[in-house]
Amino acid sequence: MDGSAPPAAVRTTCPYCGVGCGVLASSRADGTVAIAGDPAHPANFGRLCSKGAALGETLSIRGRVLHPEIGGRRVGWSEALDAVAEGFARTIREYGPDSVAFYVSGQLLTEDYYVANKLIKGFLGTANIDTNSRLCMASSVAGHRRAFGSDTVPGNYQDLDLADLVVLVGSNLAWCHPVLFQRIVAARRSRPDMKVVVIDPRRTTTAEEADFHLALRPGSDAALFNGLLAYLHRAGARNVAFLDRHTVGEGPALTAAAATGSITAVAEACDLPAGDIEAFYQLFSARERAVTVYSQGVNQSSSGTDKVNAIINCHLFTGRIGRPGMGPFSVTGQPNAMGGREVGALANQLAAHMDFSPADLDRVRRFWRAPNLATRPGFKAVDLFRAVGDGRIKAVWIMATNPVVSLPESDSVRAALEACPLVVVSDGSRANETSRYADILLPSLLWSERDGSVTNSERRVSRQRPFRPAPGEARADWWILSQVAARLGFGDAFAYRNAAQIFREHAALSAFENRGERDFDLGGVATLDDGAYARLEPTSWPVRANDRKPVERLFGNGRFFTADGRAALVAVVARSPAHAPDPVFPLVLNTGRVRDQWHTMTRTAIPRLMEHTPEPFVAVHPEDAALLDVAEGDLAHVDSRWGRAALRVRLSPAQRRGEIFVPMHWSWPLAAASAANRTVNPATDPLSGQPELKHTPVRLSRFRAAWQGTILSRMPLELGSLGYSAAIPANDHWTYEIAGEDSLTEVWQHLVSQIGEGSEDRMDVQDSALGRYRSAWFRTGRVEACLFMDSQGELPPRRLLAGFFSSRELSLADRCSLLAGRAAGPVRDEGPMICVCHGVSRKQIDAAIAGGDATVEVLGRNLKAGTNCGSCIPELRQLLLVAKPCEVA
Ligand code: SF4
Repeated sequence: MDGSAPPAAVRTTCPYCGVGCGVLASSRADGTVAIAGDPAHPANFGRLCSKGAALGETLSIRGRVLHPEIGGRRVGWSEALDAVAEGFARTIREYGPDSVAFYVSGQLLTEDYYVANKLIKGFLGTANIDTNSRLCMASSVAGHRRAFGSDTVPGNYQDLDLADLVVLVGSNLAWCHPVLFQRIVAARRSRPDMKVVVIDPRRTTTAEEADFHLALRPGSDAALFNGLLAYLHRAGARNVAFLDRHTVGEGPALTAAAATGSITAVAEACDLPAGDIEAFYQLFSARERAVTVYSQGVNQSSSGTDKVNAIINCHLFTGRIGRPGMGPFSVTGQPNAMGGREVGALANQLAAHMDFSPADLDRVRRFWRAPNLATRPGFKAVDLFRAVGDGRIKAVWIMATNPVVSLPESDSVRAALEACPLVVVSDGSRANETSRYADILLPSLLWSERDGSVTNSERRVSRQRPFRPAPGEARADWWILSQVAARLGFGDAFAYRNAAQIFREHAALSAFENRGERDFDLGGVATLDDGAYARLEPTSWPVRANDRKPVERLFGNGRFFTADGRAALVAVVARSPAHAPDPVFPLVLNTGRVRDQWHTMTRTAIPRLMEHTPEPFVAVHPEDAALLDVAEGDLAHVDSRWGRAALRVRLSPAQRRGEIFVPMHWSWPLAAASAANRTVNPATDPLSGQPELKHTPVRLSRFRAAWQGTILSRMPLELGSLGYSAAIPANDHWTYEIAGEDSLTEVWQHLVSQIGEGSEDRMDVQDSALGRYRSAWFRTGRVEACLFMDSQGELPPRRLLAGFFSSRELSLADRCSLLAGRAAGPVRDEGPMICVCHGVSRKQIDAAIAGGDATVEVLGRNLKAGTNCGSCIPELRQLLLVAKPCEVA
C-alpha cells in the first residue's frame, strides 16, 4: 500500500451472460484491476459468479489485435478502412447489395449494433445482417412475436424471488446464469414452500438442486407442455376473464394439445413415468405464482419456436403473465442479445422492434433519411454462411464473434470463408479462430475499454463504462463502421462523436411515431445529455417520453402489441427433432456449457477458470460406456454425418442412456480436434432459423491412439495438427495433452524441433522397443519444457511434472528425476478445483467432510468454499450427499 486513497471504482456491467450483473472495477497503481459485484445493481445486488469474479485476470493484452492488418501485413487505419469500403463498394457495384453481409454479435454494445444495422439495412440496401444471438434465443423472439405481437420479455428477475413455483426448462441455470440461480436458491431458503422443477434430459447441477427433476427425452418439451395445457383445461384452471377478454386462438391450441393424448401418451412421448408428469402438472396447476424459465435447451431446436409457444400457452391459459411472481421468462446467453434484438440486428427485423411491414419501412426510412433501405429480410445465420459458401455472398464483415467454432457443421463455415473473396474481421482477440480467415483484420475494443450500453434478460439497459485505455490502435466498433460509412459516401448520417449521441438516436427511433403501439420505447431517455448518459442508472424499458417511470412488467393489463391487442395461443403440434438416431449413428449428441467457461474461450481460458474443467470431454452414461468399450479417461471419437471430434471420456450417470454431452467451448487454439460443432447437424427451426445444436445423431468409438503424450512448457506452443491435443494454461507453464495415430518416432522428431526455443541444453531418454520417448529442455538451471510420449499411454502424473517448474535451480539428480517421472519432493494431488474463487480443491473438501464438516455452511466457514460467487455450492452439496447420504437434507 502506498498510503494514497484507493482509486474510485468504475460502475460497469459484466460482459459474459444475459444476467447482466453490475460490476465495480478499480484499477490499481500496479496495473491490475480489482473486481467486485455492484451492490446497487438490481440484477445481482453485489453477487458475481466465478467468471465475473475472475474478470480482472482476463485483461492482459497478450494475444490482442493491436493494429489493422491486410493479408497479415500491418497497415494504418486509413489504408484498412479504404480497403473495406472499396471492397464492399466494388462487390455491391458488380453483384448488387445482397452480395454483401455483416455477421455481428451479442458481445457488441447496443451503440455498435445500432450503427452496423443502420449502415447495412439503411444505406447498403440489404438486410443480410445477422447476429450470433441467432444461435442463442431466436426461437424465443419468434415465439414472443407469435404470441404477443412483439418480442417482449414480460417480467423481471424479482419474479423469481416472488414465485411459489419456478420451472426451469432446458436451462442449466446453476452453471450458465449462476447469479440468477443463487437468487432462486436464496428465495427458496427464505420461503421453504417454494418449489423448483427442472426439465432437462441431463441430471445437471441445476437438477441436483431441484425439488423435482423430469429427465425427459430430448426434444419432447412441446409434448410435455401440450400435455400440461390439456391438463390445465381438464383441471378447470382456465382463467376465464383473461382468456375471453385478452386472447385469441384458445380453441385450436386446446385441440392441438388434446391431440398429444392422455398423460400416459405424454409419458411415452417424453419417456418419463406418468406419475412424475402428473405430479408436475398438479404442482403447476395449484400454484398461481409460477415462473417458467427457459433458455438454450428449448431454443436450440428445429422446433424451438413451437416449444416456446407451448410454454407461453400454459401461462396465457391461466392468465399467469405480467403480474408479480409469474410468467414465461426467456433468459439469454449473451450479455447483449437483447440489445441486438432492440436495434434489429436480426436479418428478419428492421430496427427498434419494427419489421418489414410497409408502415415500418416508411417510418424507418424517414427517420434515418435512408436512401436505400432494405425492403425484405436477409439471410439468417446458418443460411448466411451457406450463401457465403455457394458464392451468393462475396463480401462478409464479421464483428466480435467466432462463427468457425460456434456454428453447426463448422467445417463448412471454414470452407466458405476460405473461398469468400473478401472477409473482414473486427475483433480484439487473436484467439478468435475466425480471425485466421480474415483478409482485413481490424482491432476493436474489448470490455474494460468499451463505452456504451447493454440490455439484460429482464429488459434492463445498463452502461458498460471504460476503465482502461485502448491498447495499440484498437477502436470502438461504432467508430470503425462510421468511418467506412463516410468512405462510402454516407458521412452525414454517420457523423457520430461518441456513444451517447448514438444512444440518443437509437432511443429517439424507438419513440418515433410510437404512441404505445410498440413495446420497445426508450423515449424517456432519448434526450439525455452526454453527462446524464455517462451517469445513466440501470433502466428497464419501456420508458416512455411522457411517463419516464420505467415499466417493470408488461401485459398485466391484458394489452398486447398485436393488431387487436390480444395475445395468441398458438396451436402446437409436437414434432420430433430433424434427424433421428439410426443404426449407424445410434446416440444423441447434446452440446452445452461448463461452469467456468464462456463461449469459445477467447476470454476465459485463464488458469483460474481452467482448473474446474481443464480438458474437452464427452460425458457418457457408464452402461453405454461399457457397451462401447470406453472407460473414464480414455480418448474417444464422436462422429456424425457432418464431422468428427476427439474428446476425453467422462463417465456420468447424469446422462440418459443413449445420449452423450459435449461442451461447445473448445476449438483452436486450445483443442483444435475437439470442436463439438464440427459434428453438429445444420437443421434449423423453420420460423426462427435457430440451429438444432442439442440433438445430433452420432456414434462414439474408442480413439485407439498409437501413442499418448504430455508436454509442459513455459512458452505457449503451436503443435500443428495432431489427432488430439488440449492446451491447459497454468500460472507458470502450459500443459499439452496429446495423442495420435501417426508414427510415434516421426511425431517425436517433429515436436522436438518445435519445443524448447531459447533453451541451453536438452536431455533425452529413448526406448524405441517400448515406444517411450522423453525429453527435457533447460535454461539457466530451470526446466523450460518437457515432453513425454508413450505407445502404452503410460505417462507421469502432471502435478508431479508441474512441481519441477516452480524450482529455480534443478540439480542433475532433479533433472534425472524429471525424466524418470519421479518427484523431486513430496507431491500432493489435490484433485480438481471445486471453488475457484478461494482455490479450494476436491481433496481439501473431502478431508473437511471426513473431519466432520456436515453442511455447506460449515464448509464455507472452515474452508471459505462457496462463500464468494456460490457457483460451487451445488457441487459441495453433492460431495456431502455422497459422503453422508443420511445427514444431508
Ligand atoms: Fe457475469 Fe456471472 Fe453475472 Fe453472468 S452471472 S453476468 S457471467 S457475473
